Amino acid sequence: MSFMLFMVTAIHVLRQIRSLRVIRLASLPMKNNQEAKQPRFNPDELRSKYREERDKRLRQEGNEQYIKIDGRYARFQEDPYTPVQAREPLHDEVEVLIVGGGFSGLLAAARLKEAGIEDVRIVERGGDFGGTWYWNRYPGAQCDIESYIYLPLLEEIGYIPKQKYSNAPEIFAHSCAIAEHYRLYDKACFHTSVTELRWNEALLRWIVSTDRGDSMKARFICLADGPLSQPKLPGIAGIETFQGKMFHTSRWDYGYTGGDACGKLDKLHDKRVGIIGTGATSIQCIPYLAASAGQLYVFQRTPSSVLVRDNKATDSEWATTLSPGWQQARMQNFNRVTSGIGQDEDQVNDGLTNIMRNLSKLPEHLYREQPAAEDMEKLSEMLDFEQMEQVRARIDSIVTDPETAAALKPWYRLFCKRPCFNDEYLQVFNRPNVKLVDTQGKGVAQLTETAAIVGDQSYDLDCLVFATGFEVGTAYPRRSGFEVYGRDGLTLTEKWADGMRTLHGLQTRHFPNCFFLGMTQGGYTANYTHMLYEQSAHIAYILGEVKKQNMQAVEVNQEAEDQWVDVINSFAAAGMKYYQECTPGYYNNEGKPGEGKTAKIAGFYGGGSEAFFQILADWRKKGDMEGVCLTGGQS
Ligand code: NDP
Repeated sequence: MSFMLFMVTAIHVLRQIRSLRVIRLASLPMKNNQEAKQPRFNPDELRSKYREERDKRLRQEGNEQYIKIDGRYARFQEDPYTPVQAREPLHDEVEVLIVGGGFSGLLAAARLKEAGIEDVRIVERGGDFGGTWYWNRYPGAQCDIESYIYLPLLEEIGYIPKQKYSNAPEIFAHSCAIAEHYRLYDKACFHTSVTELRWNEALLRWIVSTDRGDSMKARFICLADGPLSQPKLPGIAGIETFQGKMFHTSRWDYGYTGGDACGKLDKLHDKRVGIIGTGATSIQCIPYLAASAGQLYVFQRTPSSVLVRDNKATDSEWATTLSPGWQQARMQNFNRVTSGIGQDEDQVNDGLTNIMRNLSKLPEHLYREQPAAEDMEKLSEMLDFEQMEQVRARIDSIVTDPETAAALKPWYRLFCKRPCFNDEYLQVFNRPNVKLVDTQGKGVAQLTETAAIVGDQSYDLDCLVFATGFEVGTAYPRRSGFEVYGRDGLTLTEKWADGMRTLHGLQTRHFPNCFFLGMTQGGYTANYTHMLYEQSAHIAYILGEVKKQNMQAVEVNQEAEDQWVDVINSFAAAGMKYYQECTPGYYNNEGKPGEGKTAKIAGFYGGGSEAFFQILADWRKKGDMEGVCLTGGQS
C-alpha cells in the first residue's frame, strides 16, 4: 500500500511524452507499424457504456454522502493496537515540531537531523511511528509500489526488504527502525492529537495545543499528517442500528476476528461477514476474509481493476550487487518510466511500469511529428480501452460464474480509480462461501439490527467491515482535526477558502515557519516516497539557511505565491475533461472535479515531477531564497 495519492493519469503521461518527444526518440527502440493495428472493440460502444455506468453512480451529495467519524461514531477511530499511556502535559519548546509520524514526518525529521537540526519532536495520533503503516494492519496489507523504492532510507538504515512488495508488518517495523536510527523516540509524543496550531508574532513561535493538555512552543512546524489519514464511513441509512460487530479496515479488530496480518482469522469460521467497498484495501483483505469466514458477502458499488501482482522474494545475490546511491537511482528510474520519459532500462519492471509503457506506445509517425493535443488524447483513449479490455478479459479467464465475472468488470478509464494488483482476489469468487453482492452502483441501501439490505434482498450478518476509504476532498481542518492560526489570527480555512495557495506546495503566506508535506501543488509522483525525499531535502535546506543567516522566521512573499498558483492553474484544465468523464471516487471529488473549496487550485504542477524537482533544485542552487523573506534578526 504505497498509500501515496495515486492520481497519475494517461493524460499526464501523454502530455509529458509530447513535450519530451525528442528524449523518447533518442532512447527508445522503435516499433514498426504500430499504427496499423485495428482495435478489437468498438470505441463508441465503450464510450457510451462508460458514460452509462458513471451516470448510475453519480450522487448529488458528492463527499457529503460519507459520515464524519466523531461523536457517536468516535469509537471507529480508537486505537485497537496500543494502550494509551498516561503522561503529564508538556509546556516546553522545541526547534521543529512535526505533526505526523508516518513516512512524511520520518523523512522530514531524518533530513533535518542530517542537516544538524537535532531538536525535533514528532507529535503522532497513533501509538507509534508508521502513520498509514501503523493504522492499516488489515490482513493482506502490502505496499504496491516496489518496496526497494517505496520503503524510505533503505541505504541509511542498512535494510533490504524481504520481498518485491513488502507486507504491512515489515513496513511498520522499518518505520520504527528509521525512528530509532535518527533518535526520534526521545522527544516523540504518541497518542497525541493536535487541537490547534497558533503563530505568536511576539515570540516568533508556534504554540501547539493538543488533546493531552500540552501547550508546546516550536519555532518551525511541518504538517506531515498525510492525505489519507482520516477514515470515513458510508452514510447508509440505519448504520447506527446494526447490532453486529463493525469496524473500519484501518482499525482491524483481531480480538474479534482472530489471526493476524498473515490471515488465519480463526474466530470467523462460523461467522457471516459482510465487507462494504471494493477499493485497493478490500482487494487485499478479501482473500483472507474468504479463507476464514463461514460466509462472506462482498457488497460492491464499483469494481476495481485488478492486474497481475507477481510478488517475489528478494534475490539475495542481487542485493549484494547494489552499490551506494542505488535507491535514489532506482527511484529516479521508476519516476521517469512512469512519467513517460524514455529510459534505456526499466529497473522496477512491474505491473505499473508495464501499464505506463502500454499507455505510452506511440505509433511511429507520432515520434516524428508534433501531434496535436486532440490526436494525443484520442490515442490515449484507445490505448486505455485496450488496457481495460485486458483487465476485463483477465476476469473472464479466472472467475467461473459468468454472471459474477460480468459484475466484476470495471467500465471506466484505468486511472479513474486506483488500479490494483493482486493474484488472489478474483479467484475468491469461485469459492462456495463467497457471494458478490452487486449493488448496481448504488451501494447498500439500508442496515437493520441484523442485516444489510440491497434491492429486495436482506443479508444476515454477524460482522460488517467498512473498507470505505479515507476523507480526501473535505476541508483540511476537518481531515486534520485542528485549525491553524497564522499571522494576525488568520486561519488556514480562511486563507484557503477559495482554494489552496502555496509556493511549491510547501509554504503559504501569513503562516511563517510552517511547511506542508504532500503532493498538492507539487509534481505528481507515482511513488509518494520520492516526493517526500525531495520536499524533505528542500525544507532542510530552507531551515539551514534561516539558521545560517541568524534569522528566526521565513515566509513566502505574496508575489511568489501568486505566481506559483498561476503556474498550477495554467495546467488545471487539461485533466479536467478526463476526470469529468470518470466514474465517481476520491480522484474526481466524487464526480465533481474542480468543485468545492479544497478542490480549487489544488492540483499538481502539470509539467511533471521531474521538472518540478528541477525547479526546487535550481531554486536551492541559486541560493538567494527567491520569493521568501527572512525576518527576526538574532534569536
Ligand atoms: P477507496 O476510497 O479506494 O475505496 C472505498 C470503497 O468503498 C469503494 O469501493 C467505494 O465504492 C466503496 N463505498 C463507499 N461508500 C459505499 C457505500 N455506501 N456502499 C458501498 N460501497 C461503498 O478506499 P481504500 O481504503 O480501498 O483505498 C484508499 C486508498 O488507499 C487507495 O486509493 C490507495 O491510494 C491507498 N491504498 C493503497 C494500497 C496499496 O498501496 N497497496 C492498499 C490499500 C489502499 P465506489 O468506488 O463506488 O465509490
